[in-house]
Amino acid sequence: MWPRNGAGRGYYILTVLMSELRLGDELDDYCVKCRRLTNHLVVSLMDGAAAKVRCRSCYGDHDYRHEQIPPSKRELAKRKELFNAILSEVNPPDKP
Ligand SMILES: [Zn+2]
Repeated sequence: MWPRNGAGRGYYILTVLMSELRLGDELDDYCVKCRRLTNHLVVSLMDGAAAKVRCRSCYGDHDYRHEQIPPSKRELAKRKELFNAILSEVNPPDKP
């Protein structure tokens, strides 16, 4: 049964159309092993979104990263430095 509210029905159809992602669908994601954006297959879904994907180049499974390229080690070190600098400013080390 469709909901009586017409807007509700439209919303339902829209939701179905928007969540077309299925297992085995292809999408681009960043692969840590290949160190680049590669073609991936959806191997696990959560709430209509990709949860786990498999790289089509190295066949490695990993969580879907939403095409986010993880920061390099150099970048992480830089961030840590900045974080420590802010920490020491906010909370200066006690000198007895
Ligand atoms: Zn790969």
